[in-house]
Amino acid sequence: MAANFDTDVLVVGAGPAGLSLATELTMRGVSVIVVEQNERVGVQPRAKTTNVRTMEHMRRWGLSKHLRNLSPIPPEVPRRVRFATSLFGGDIWLFDNSFCAARQRDDRFSENAEWIPQYVIEKVLLDHVSRQATVKLKHRFIDFTQDADGVTTNISDLDGGKTVTIRARYLVGADGGRSPVRAQLGIAMQGQSSIASFVTLILKVPGLNADPRLEPALMHWLVDPAAPCIVGPMDRDDTWFFNPSPKAGGPGDDAQVHNEIRHVLGDRYDYTVLAKDLWTAHRLLADRYGEGRVYLAGDACHLHSPFGGHGMNFGIGDAVDLGWKLAATLQGWGGPGLLDTYEIERKPVHQRVLDSATENLASLSGQFSAPELLEDSERGEAARQQAGRAVERSKTPEFRSLGLVLGYSYAGSPIVAREDKAPPQPDVVQLRPSGYPGERAPHAWLADDKSVYDLFGHGFTLLATAEAMPQELAAATAEAKRQGIPFAVANPDEPRLRALYGARFALIRPDQHIAWRGDSLDDFAVVLTMARGVTTKNEQRASPLERRHNA
Ligand SMILES: Cc1cc2nc3c(=O)[nH]c(=O)nc-3n(C[C@H](O)[C@H](O)[C@H](O)COP(=O)(O)OP(=O)(O)OC[C@H]3O[C@@H](n4cnc5c(N)ncnc54)[C@H](O)[C@@H]3O)c2cc1C
Repeated sequence: MAANFDTDVLVVGAGPAGLSLATELTMRGVSVIVVEQNERVGVQPRAKTTNVRTMEHMRRWGLSKHLRNLSPIPPEVPRRVRFATSLFGGDIWLFDNSFCAARQRDDRFSENAEWIPQYVIEKVLLDHVSRQATVKLKHRFIDFTQDADGVTTNISDLDGGKTVTIRARYLVGADGGRSPVRAQLGIAMQGQSSIASFVTLILKVPGLNADPRLEPALMHWLVDPAAPCIVGPMDRDDTWFFNPSPKAGGPGDDAQVHNEIRHVLGDRYDYTVLAKDLWTAHRLLADRYGEGRVYLAGDACHLHSPFGGHGMNFGIGDAVDLGWKLAATLQGWGGPGLLDTYEIERKPVHQRVLDSATENLASLSGQFSAPELLEDSERGEAARQQAGRAVERSKTPEFRSLGLVLGYSYAGSPIVAREDKAPPQPDVVQLRPSGYPGERAPHAWLADDKSVYDLFGHGFTLLATAEAMPQELAAATAEAKRQGIPFAVANPDEPRLRALYGARFALIRPDQHIAWRGDSLDDFAVVLTMARGVTTKNEQRASPLERRHNA
């Protein structure tokens, strides 16, 4: 850290995005201070879906095993989403292995998704970050000024009432949907706000888990017209969440909601309310993701409905993208164009997520419910079959969204090599692994239970997918050293990689995305310069690399 600075990066907000950013930065040797206004993390019991990509990042950070052990859902519980007329029967459709959360090995990724309360994730990240960085709870961001060298931020110490000033090289607002950092930057959110309002109740229902009539599932989408809702296990000890479908004009009054809970649980169970969370679904994207030395991450720059389970996960993705770029810039190996690519790369990804999450919001339990679904008759059976088909049609992208979760690409970014052929078309459901530059590196399991990702270093990795000459690899390593880039070489003995990546070599970025691929390392110096944000788009266009691709 340079003199006159308290830290390299000041992060406002100890939610999933802020804590992940602190994790990514400290892993790269960057000093971080996190300030959080609350006295503890995990105040809102919101996310449960911890997707495959987030778990892959957790693996990179050395936290995935620990996190998996903290999932409140026993391994034998099927990771399924159930659409049914009741908690205790009347299935109309099942999505098995929803979110790819089944604990089974899959060639497409290194970690399955998990069902873990957001407050557990935040606690794990906080414990980890607290060992590497300063975390100041009960400290509220007030305002900042920035100049050519850094950012000076005023923070209110909520215990003592004093104002503390922190001087940092960069400031990141990971401070949630209302983001005071964004407000001070004067950045507007564009799109549609307040599409619908909801309430989620966290309930203690003693004995419900052990009810033999209950079909275990991650979520029960109940389509009974008397109480359309989503119910599911939140935590150990019979802790459940209850999310009624919204009524016209809002989530419904308390009496209405409690009637619905009683209807769903039946006479056998008492319950107590542990928490009540009122929330609103939006479809909003920030105009810009920062200005000067100040950046935004997570809900501070993208807000959408939680249906599909993407908000926290894509906020963690922001932290990864921004984290390595901030580290590279601070350490001097990132070029002047590198940090600009944060918004260039993430915004189109968020746009896709916004579209998908808004589509998911359009069909909730209430839309599938009808009185005849409850009838014990031929008409009832036909109605259930028809509803099942409608559920499958409209909800598959919500529970099988691997194409969205892993299939996003940074093709077109100035730090990603361009190829003549058009990039693969993304799809929300289907993941089509490809070695096309910009894509997440295609995954493969290697011998000894190793993921190919386990061979990648924290910096750039040159993956040789076929036999390579030691002198080629040595020359590439020497060039990376000359450019000051943290660099590793991986040359596993796995014949499938050549076809999977479509080239003899691939340059893997610190975030496991492909920067470039090719069959020769002749232009490797230019490739590295481009990938770390030194050459501009125009320079890249004129480069030998580009000419060779177009030849
Ligand atoms: C019902 C529901 C269910 C959801 N389920 C999922 C799911 O399954 N999967 C998923 O991925 N996402 C889910 N989400 C979305 C997820 O909860 C959010 O996207 C996520 O919390 C955003 O993380 P963040 O770190 O960007 O912001 P936040 O979690 O909002 O954290 C921001 C932090 O900044 C702090 N802060 C704000 N202002 C200041 C200040 N002035 N000074 C200091 N600190 C400040 C806040 O106190 C807060 O701790 C769900 C959301 C809801 C409403």
